[in-house]
Amino acid sequence: MSTANAYAAPSAHDALTPTTIERREVGPRDVAIDIKYCGICHSDIHHCRGEWGDVPYPAVPGHEIAGVVSAVGAEVRKHAVGDRVGVGCMVNSCGECANCLKGDEQYCIPGNTQTYGSVDRDGTITRGGYSSHVVVDEAFVLRIPDGLELDVAAPLLCAGITTYSPLRHWEAGPGRQVAVVGLGGLGHMAVKLASAMGAEVTVLSQTLSKQEDGLRMGAAAYHATSDPATFEQLANRFDLIINTVSAEIDISAFLGLLATDGALVNVGAPSAPLPVAVFSLLLHRRSFAGSAIGSIAETQEMLDFCAEHGIAPEIETISADQINDAWERVMQSDVRYRFVIDSSTLG
Ligand code: NAP
Ligand code: ZN
Repeated sequence: MSTANAYAAPSAHDALTPTTIERREVGPRDVAIDIKYCGICHSDIHHCRGEWGDVPYPAVPGHEIAGVVSAVGAEVRKHAVGDRVGVGCMVNSCGECANCLKGDEQYCIPGNTQTYGSVDRDGTITRGGYSSHVVVDEAFVLRIPDGLELDVAAPLLCAGITTYSPLRHWEAGPGRQVAVVGLGGLGHMAVKLASAMGAEVTVLSQTLSKQEDGLRMGAAAYHATSDPATFEQLANRFDLIINTVSAEIDISAFLGLLATDGALVNVGAPSAPLPVAVFSLLLHRRSFAGSAIGSIAETQEMLDFCAEHGIAPEIETISADQINDAWERVMQSDVRYRFVIDSSTLG
């Protein structure tokens, strides 16, 4: 066992505070990672505030981890001491179900082991990347390509893969009209990735306050969802809409923006159910779908794609004592466009 410095939420209502946690011994297939940076995902807030259900407190969130390998187990082949690596939202899966066998471990049928708040193989509760180091099975550790600095690589491990995967699955590319709802951490990655894939991208944000940024990131058009004219002007327009909004929105209004055979894919994860206008679906054979992160192989493909295309998230690096303020800003939609914790400030 080793002791890591960490920041933890003691309950659903209290601010995060500095603490220490135990990490397991490095097993034969484990990689120990000195964490250099960890992104702040809105999921960290949903989870720690108990919005998705019961939480084993104290909760140490963080699933956008970038760092350097400090030790490896005897059977580890994929990674070596000194390698630049990343860990995303999952740290294990059953390895035996139909989805794991076809390489979709994010959809592990008994459930993958999440980087935080899950029961691990040894019965302990997983603790995430708001911490100084972590021990992870080598199969769930990603290689960070040379072309990506560790600070900007961190958010790719969740925001990057969560948008890359549905863009690939629903075939964003030349000749396809893609809309991205919400220009936050996930949304700004969706804009950059979809435009690099060759799609024509439209941002649908609450206001026009970030229009210049959205166009610079590669969007061809930008509209305010607070303006009812947006929904008339863009009716039946899009082949694919990626909804990244963390709150409940009027999904049926957005379904009306889909072309026939178009798909609206929800990656945003509000806790309450979203009512859907069935007639809007059936009259134009539209789909309403969801998507969770991506597989390990697809995450590696996404990292390599970002390095090759020079794609990086836009980050604001903070010290650990600014985490609670950063969370407040994320909840106010005041993020440009991902907060990243400098792990050397954890104490
Ligand atoms: P974020 O940075 O806070 O971005 C969310 C954006 O949604 C905001 O920037 C804002 O964009 C818009 N928004 C927020 N509240 C809104 C409201 N009441 N009405 C309309 N729009 C609103 O969050 P994130 O880290 O990108 O995460 C987004 C969601 O994805 C969260 O629910 C998170 O849990 C979920 N998530 C899911 C997966 C998955 O595997 N499916 C993975 C990671 C995260 P504008 O200011 O541009 O309007
Ligand atoms: Zn996340």
